[in-house]
Amino acid sequence: MSATVTPIADAHARHAATESARPATDATTVPLAWFDGALVPGDAMQAGLTTHAMHYGSGVFEGVRAYATDDGAAVFRLPEHLERMRLGAEMFALPFNPAQAAEAVLATLRANRHRDAYIRPLAWFGEGSFGLDVEGHVPHMMVASTATHVHLNGTRARLGVSRWRRNPADSLPPLKLCGGYVNSILAKREAKARGFDEALFTDREGRVVECTGANVFMVRDGELTAVAHPDALDGITRDTLLQLTGAQARAVSLEELLQADEVFACGTAAEVAPVAQIEDRHYGDNPVTRELQALYGRVVRGREPAWRHWLTTV
Ligand code: PMP
Repeated sequence: MSATVTPIADAHARHAATESARPATDATTVPLAWFDGALVPGDAMQAGLTTHAMHYGSGVFEGVRAYATDDGAAVFRLPEHLERMRLGAEMFALPFNPAQAAEAVLATLRANRHRDAYIRPLAWFGEGSFGLDVEGHVPHMMVASTATHVHLNGTRARLGVSRWRRNPADSLPPLKLCGGYVNSILAKREAKARGFDEALFTDREGRVVECTGANVFMVRDGELTAVAHPDALDGITRDTLLQLTGAQARAVSLEELLQADEVFACGTAAEVAPVAQIEDRHYGDNPVTRELQALYGRVVRGREPAWRHWLTTV
């Protein structure tokens, strides 16, 4: 928020002219963002200093992806992402309309002419008093998109077992509530400070929960298992892989994970991300993970006809 940013009202007023004059997004143009019903230059917005979400985390977001398919750009499992966002918004009675949000996502992708893209819808409580009550705070919604952002950089991740516990589900529901991600930030910082790429959360009983922004699977003797834990986010990529493979989902201890042949993390941004190491346990070759990576890649790009219903054409 610099002093030179355009106030929200001005940006709305300028929107029509900006939109019609705009070339396709490239490295030199500022992408457009959808903000409260209009497409505006993404770097032109500012938020008031009393923004409730900035003080207390009262927002909900999604991480969604679009892929280039033979029929043009398509969004992968958009209704499922927006349904999870609706559940999060409901937690603090934040107005949220999935149909409007879907239109906003598609409008943003069309405006930026993105094909392979990472999409960030965010709804939040804005200006009002400094009190905790959300009543009286202005609700806002935005959608931004960028050319694909690759979580864990497509490399084999090295995980540190987090000294922090995951937010327990009876304190904070495992949804994409903004404030909940402070927990992920702390864990990620601590893991990186110890030389790892990412943190793995375990609970007090030694069961695996998830990573800071991805779910966990393991392979043992050719058998695929999804880690199940009540404190973990119900990931859409995890569900995708369960549906594609019919794998089992169950509680897994850290001990068992360390004995697995292969471990991978998965999420919308991470896709299927092989794990090279957990603390001082190094994993070897990962043929099952590679096969699943390839399958997932075909499904999200519309090359598996049986699963094309998961794609929403832009
Ligand atoms: N766990 C957490 C904490 C996450 O933030 C994410 C990313 N949304 C995931 C798991 C993976 O979820 P999804 O596959 O729906 O992206």
